[in-house]
Amino acid sequence: MKPIVSHAKEYGYIFSSSEIYDGLSAVYDYGPYGVELKNNIRNYWWKSMVQMHENVVGLDSAIFMHPEIWKASGHVDAFNDPLIDNKDSKKRYRADQLIEDYLEKYHKKIAKDTEKARKRFGAEFDEAQFLATNPNVLRNKAKIEEINFRMNEALKKEDFAALKALIEELGIADPETGSKNWTDVRMFNLMFSTQLGTIAGETGKLYLRPETAQGIFVNFLNVLKSTRQKIPFGIAQTGKAFRNEIVARQFIFRMREFEQMEMQFFVRPGEEEKWYTYWKEKRMKWHRTLYYQDIKINNSNRPSFDQILRFHKHEKLAHYARAAVDIEFHFPFGFRELEGIHSRGDFDLARHQEFSGKKLRYFDPELGSGYVPSVVETSIGLDRMFLAVFSQALDEETLEDGSQRTVLRLPAELAPVKVAVLPLLKKDGLPEEARQVFDRLKLEFMCQYDEKDAIGKRYRRQDAIGTPYCLTVDHQTLEDQTLTIRERDSMKQERIPLEKVGEVVKEKVQMENLLRQL
Ligand code: ATP
Repeated sequence: MKPIVSHAKEYGYIFSSSEIYDGLSAVYDYGPYGVELKNNIRNYWWKSMVQMHENVVGLDSAIFMHPEIWKASGHVDAFNDPLIDNKDSKKRYRADQLIEDYLEKYHKKIAKDTEKARKRFGAEFDEAQFLATNPNVLRNKAKIEEINFRMNEALKKEDFAALKALIEELGIADPETGSKNWTDVRMFNLMFSTQLGTIAGETGKLYLRPETAQGIFVNFLNVLKSTRQKIPFGIAQTGKAFRNEIVARQFIFRMREFEQMEMQFFVRPGEEEKWYTYWKEKRMKWHRTLYYQDIKINNSNRPSFDQILRFHKHEKLAHYARAAVDIEFHFPFGFRELEGIHSRGDFDLARHQEFSGKKLRYFDPELGSGYVPSVVETSIGLDRMFLAVFSQALDEETLEDGSQRTVLRLPAELAPVKVAVLPLLKKDGLPEEARQVFDRLKLEFMCQYDEKDAIGKRYRRQDAIGTPYCLTVDHQTLEDQTLTIRERDSMKQERIPLEKVGEVVKEKVQMENLLRQL
């Protein structure tokens, strides 16, 4: 993670919040390039969910909501994490995460055995058969299953003594100090609260929303009445959410203030399974499409889809869920949740109906009767997606002449700056000509004009920012109205006519390239 964090800071992607005051733990600010990349990822999500689906509409609900909402949603009572403290180091951890990190050792052993066997058997290697029959793999798998089962049983029953006993039995130590001196496990509510106006005490207590989803549920009727949507249909929104995370580590992976991109899809009761499967596949395709660009950029010199993205089915379900699966991404610190797809049944609408006293039903003209719809949700963290894209893109390359270059191989559709316009020299009318190109292109794309330093140095700087194309104006440009376009990844240069520049760049960087593949 170290090179990722320092590159993000040095090149204006991510800064620690309040840095001149020594920072604020697990809160981050996005710099000039970070905000562009974040906007582009959000845009990719929004367009694929809302623009590409006639039956999904957008919403932007407020962060503050009526406090009863969080009682109805179950967050006041059940939005808790099991925490455990180390008595020696005074560090606080999530009990379930300590166990999950421990299990990662077994996953790694399986991966190592598989790789060894792949090398030994070469082209004849059958991975599925190996995983199903190798005794070492089977032993490790059984161990994972057993520990997972015991952890999930303890969590389900809220049996904290059993959870602590499991941590002790496995010999799990404080990852930072090695101490095994643990406190009991306790529950901790993750919601931040604040006060409304001048009303003191419980009556004026407001929560900062811990998820954007509830804003969608409470607007279900408004959206239904103000649009011509019929079930099945979805409501999508992106926005800030706040959680008082016990352990906020791993950079922007786990923050206390973060952004979610959520969509609630309302369906006829009984059709949950069908839509759950539909959105599961759709969302995986969205991730794979992006990763496919990555493979193309790197000439296939990349791990396969399954080594980067996988489904992980939940055994312990959240208080609202009937079925749930995570899309996990292989971050630099291992596979972790990137997105959740949940079949929530009618839990939320039924609870809001009960708590608000308002009917949240839908009259189905095809059935001639009414019901409270069921919901399938897709929920992804924008910051986590940012980390996935950014960490995947950062590369240190050794060139043929032995020199090193740092290059951020972002898919062009997401890159903050699409083109840099560079005059070869700062004289002979080249800057004026380059400025004209820049002024034309900036109407359509985020561009940069740069005339400082030698051309090689300017290319390197654009490589580090992740700019996919550089346009260089030289003396020949003045003679024949052509310029060179340099590609970030291959560093290949090609001459193209000035009049075609806009068209050529657009074709390479437009979001449509991704959307068309979905
Ligand atoms: P985790 O188990 O990692 O705490 P979760 O299961 O609580 O996550 P959800 O409630 O399903 O997460 O939230 C949906 C998505 O929001 C997650 O998949 C993740 O991408 C994002 N997310 C949740 N908590 C955070 C956080 N503290 N910082 C950044 N992103 C988050």
